[in-house]
Amino acid sequence: MIKINLDNLQETIKRQTIEPDEDFLYDVIIIGGGPAGMTACVYAARKKLNVLLITKNLGGQVLWTSGIENYMGYQYITGQELAQKFSEQVYSFPIAIQMPDEVIQVERKNKYFIVYTKYGSTFQARALIIASGKEPKQLGIPNEKELTGRGVSYCATCDAPLYHNKTTAVIGGGNSAVLAALELSKIARLVYLIVRSSIKADPVLTDRLNQTPRIKVYLGYVPKSIKGKEHVESLIITKTDGSGEQELLTDGIFIEAGLVPNTKFLNGLVKTNEKEEIIVNCNCETSEPGVFACGDVTNVIDKQIIIACGEGAKAALTLYRYLMSTKI
Ligand SMILES: Cc1cc2nc3c(=O)[nH]c(=O)nc-3n(C[C@H](O)[C@H](O)[C@H](O)COP(=O)(O)OP(=O)(O)OC[C@H]3O[C@@H](n4cnc5c(N)ncnc54)[C@H](O)[C@@H]3O)c2cc1C
Repeated sequence: MIKINLDNLQETIKRQTIEPDEDFLYDVIIIGGGPAGMTACVYAARKKLNVLLITKNLGGQVLWTSGIENYMGYQYITGQELAQKFSEQVYSFPIAIQMPDEVIQVERKNKYFIVYTKYGSTFQARALIIASGKEPKQLGIPNEKELTGRGVSYCATCDAPLYHNKTTAVIGGGNSAVLAALELSKIARLVYLIVRSSIKADPVLTDRLNQTPRIKVYLGYVPKSIKGKEHVESLIITKTDGSGEQELLTDGIFIEAGLVPNTKFLNGLVKTNEKEEIIVNCNCETSEPGVFACGDVTNVIDKQIIIACGEGAKAALTLYRYLMSTKI
């Protein structure tokens, strides 16, 4: 059994959370503790449902965000602070939390859902809310996996401070890649930005990029492999047609190639679209009765904190009506 990690909670918070119980039939298991899952927890708990939250962390992508200026009620708040405020609200209800853990498989057995976790626990529930969000896309190039955490990073906000006066490379051409390059340019000596086709960031970011001499852009290049024994030493890039190979000496490589939904563990239980996002209707219902989904893991087009929270609330309220009207 995994212990709840309460280490970083402030003393002042009145904790109501309870230990997860493998022998108990929960009304709902919520998978994922980002903005969508945490909001669903609060709404479900206020309806007096028996809730189990299974998650790797409390915060999700918000933990990777340096500053947030578009969450109502705060003109500016850091990601860490907002995640902490959300967590405090979750901890104030009597829900069970299995953390840190990860759902690896879900199946329907007769009327109920069985959920299996990475650390060997098995839980059961009458219904599910999937709020597992998205995670960074990997490039699949040689040495990427081996050197992750040893120079290869997927989070500029988390790791940029490690590269004071060093050389770094960022891979990607969208908003997150340009933001990462700009953030690194304040710390690192030199930043390479490797862009497959063209810069697709917002004009305001592109303007800032063009005014930052410390960022050297390689347009029309793709990463081929990473070199290094104990730590990243260089990045090999080629032109998109495979010609013009170059070796860039670098201390760190930040991969900002987009995000993929965390839906593998569902194993076809619900319908997904071509991006592997869960297809939901406007009430957060999926193709499988009793399974609801919310936030970035779904086909709802805009991926924002406030939208994920709103969808989390909707999922919990729809789930509540489902449980009240269904004999299970
Ligand atoms: C760098 C960056 C900056 C951003 N800036 C902003 C901003 O300024 N404003 C804004 O509104 N939005 C911003 N966003 C987008 C916003 O963070 C997301 O839209 C939002 O976090 C989505 O919430 P979510 O709960 O749906 O998913 P996530 O935040 O992805 O949370 C998913 C949760 O599920 C957990 N999980 C995943 N798989 C499993 C599993 N198998 N088992 C158990 N748990 C699992 C994860 O650990 C995580 O806790 C930003 C995103 C990024 C990456």
